[in-house]
Amino acid sequence: MTKSRFRRVVMVLLSAITLLSMWGSCLPVRAVIAKPSKKISWTELERRFEGAFVLSASSQGTRKVALTFDDVPDPRFTPQVLNVLKKKGVAATFFVVGTRSMKHPDLVRRIKKEGHNLGNHSYSHPDFSKMSLSQVQDQIGRAEKIIEGIVGFKPRLVRPPYGEIMPKQLEWAKKQGYTVVNWNVDSSDWRQLSADQVFRNVTRSVRPGSVVLMHAGGGVGQSLSGTVKALPRIIDWLRAHDYEPVTLTELLDIPEKRKVR
Ligand SMILES: [Zn+2]
Repeated sequence: MTKSRFRRVVMVLLSAITLLSMWGSCLPVRAVIAKPSKKISWTELERRFEGAFVLSASSQGTRKVALTFDDVPDPRFTPQVLNVLKKKGVAATFFVVGTRSMKHPDLVRRIKKEGHNLGNHSYSHPDFSKMSLSQVQDQIGRAEKIIEGIVGFKPRLVRPPYGEIMPKQLEWAKKQGYTVVNWNVDSSDWRQLSADQVFRNVTRSVRPGSVVLMHAGGGVGQSLSGTVKALPRIIDWLRAHDYEPVTLTELLDIPEKRKVR
């Protein structure tokens, strides 16, 4: 191989690696990279860590469902989502990112003031499955301090970024009094879907006790206008089908504040 050809090959490889790593670091990109088969399924984790890792509530005797919004606060979309919820009289759950909360503490206060649940969505939104236990402890702990500084309590609810979490990390979270909540209905709204698509994704899979994943914050240039437009229709549809949208702590019948042991 000539020197210049070698240089060209190296350049192509480097730009491919850069592109791939940029892709992976966008905020709500999830499940784009195939999960290795040795990973334990969420259903198995839910069984193994009963009550500490949750995908949905037991459907017996309830028509309650929880709408949850990740990656907040984001001044572009969080106020719009809050406005819709206020107009419709619905309480939901917001999973906040530490770094974003530091920039927009007023929005975190508004979420709380308007009767919604606050949950911990880590300090800087990394993939926990690629991290050591102490790094995960640091991510949750730092976000918790920021949230506590703004609203005065430590949230019990935790949602790992991309829903990724390992058994060892769950063991620790359980001992510390956290409830880790993923979802069983994915709106896939982070793919910048139209309002119709977001509406369809939610309404076709929702069941009594469901936890619905949506976003009220996005990455640079990412639009969640489909989510904002779909939300009033989703709420109307849920009520027309006798579902009752509630906060996660009401759905799961747990306190919002973490008991420190
Ligand atoms: Zn997220």
